[in-house]
Amino acid sequence: MSILKELSKKLGGYQIRGNSEYGFECPKCSEGKGKNHLGVNLRKMVYNCFRCKYSGHLSEILSHDMIRKFKDSMVREARNKINKSTKIPDFCSS
Ligand SMILES: [Zn+2]
Repeated sequence: MSILKELSKKLGGYQIRGNSEYGFECPKCSEGKGKNHLGVNLRKMVYNCFRCKYSGHLSEILSHDMIRKFKDSMVREARNKINKSTKIPDFCSS
């Protein structure tokens, strides 16, 4: 996902925490590598540091163009899922 590339350009390395959840180095309180206090949720488009409470919306970090592209890709992904799930199963046609 290119939005992660953009975020890591600005915030450094990250860990994958779970579904759409990533841990980044907090630009406010980071003490070095491996201390990924800043939780980023790509589904909610928010970031939140559990240590210093630095939080906000990803649009404050990323450009509007980047956010728009990301949202477009989410919509495309959702549409693809719908198309797959509404596909007529093979056994119906035979
Ligand atoms: Zn912090």
